[in-house]
Formats: sequence, structure tokens, C-alpha cells
Amino acid sequence: MKESSTSGGAGRKQGAASPCAACKLLRRRCSQDCVFAPYFPADEPHKFASVHKVFGASNVNKMLQELPEHHRGDAVSSMVYEANARIRDPVYGCVGAISSLQQQIDVLQAQLAVSQAEVVHMRMRHFSSSPVNQSPENISPPSRHHQSRTPTRSLFGMDMVVDQTNMGMGESLWSSCN
Ligand SMILES: [Zn+2]
Repeated sequence: MKESSTSGGAGRKQGAASPCAACKLLRRRCSQDCVFAPYFPADEPHKFASVHKVFGASNVNKMLQELPEHHRGDAVSSMVYEANARIRDPVYGCVGAISSLQQQIDVLQAQLAVSQAEVVHMRMRHFSSSPVNQSPENISPPSRHHQSRTPTRSLFGMDMVVDQTNMGMGESLWSSCN
């Protein structure tokens, strides 16, 4: 077997004297080619304790054996994450986190759609109230005030969108400047 010369040498510097966290918990001898040793060091016993509790040591062993070595580190990280989530939340596990984030995405996408609709609405109102076809005496004081901002109109419009999204008071802000 070639792994004793590759993973055995690179992943374990403590040697057989100090068993990995997995072998220590399982009370077995940590062999030179122990599949757990590179990923479950003795100074992090909680990592193996979690995956052992949720997945079982033999399943973790099997899952790691089925993966190429360059994927095993990431697989262990995700298994530890999943196991800890399952221990924290026995009903939903990490699906609870995914679901919560999905709900946040839905809320933010709805807010974004509202904001985009408001941008369109504001542009249309601004366009229809622009002084292009108006004589100066028809311009009301707020419009004249607004007219002075015309060169920075688009920048001002962007600021309005940010205000609306964050504070939910865009309508009153917009009404006061129009
Ligand atoms: Zn071991």
C-alpha cells in the first residue's frame, strides 16, 4: 500500500505514541495508515466526538475511504459542521441554517423588487415633472428647488433608493422633495 509513505508521513508527525482523536475515543491502536489521523488530531477531540455521535465512526471511515485524499479534508470539515448543527438543532440540523438563509434571501429579493419598482416610479414622476416643456412661471417652489439639483439628479436618485431600503421612509422623503 502506498498510503503509508504518503499520508502516513505527511499527516502524522506525532507517530504511534500519540493516537489521533478518533482512535483515542474508540480505544483502538492508531495505526500508521489510520484514515482519521490526518483530520482528527488529538488536540481537537470534540471534532471526532461530534461526527461519531451523528454519523458513526464506521460510516465516517467508509465515507473517507471512498474519497480521494485531496477531498477528505473538506469532507471532514463539512461532516463536522453538519454534525455540530445536528447536535445543536436535532430537528432541522444544518437544514435549519439553510432554510433561515433562504428565507432571508426571499425577504431581501422582495425588498429589492419593491425598491426597483420605486426607482422606476420615481424616474417616471421625475421625468413627467421635469421643466423641459414648462415655462418658468409654472414651476412650483419645490420643483425650482429640485431644479437646482438637476446636474446631480441620478446620484441623488441612488441615495434615495438606499434610504428607502434601509429606513422604509422613502415615500415621505420623496414627497418632501417633489
Ligand atoms: Zn487514528
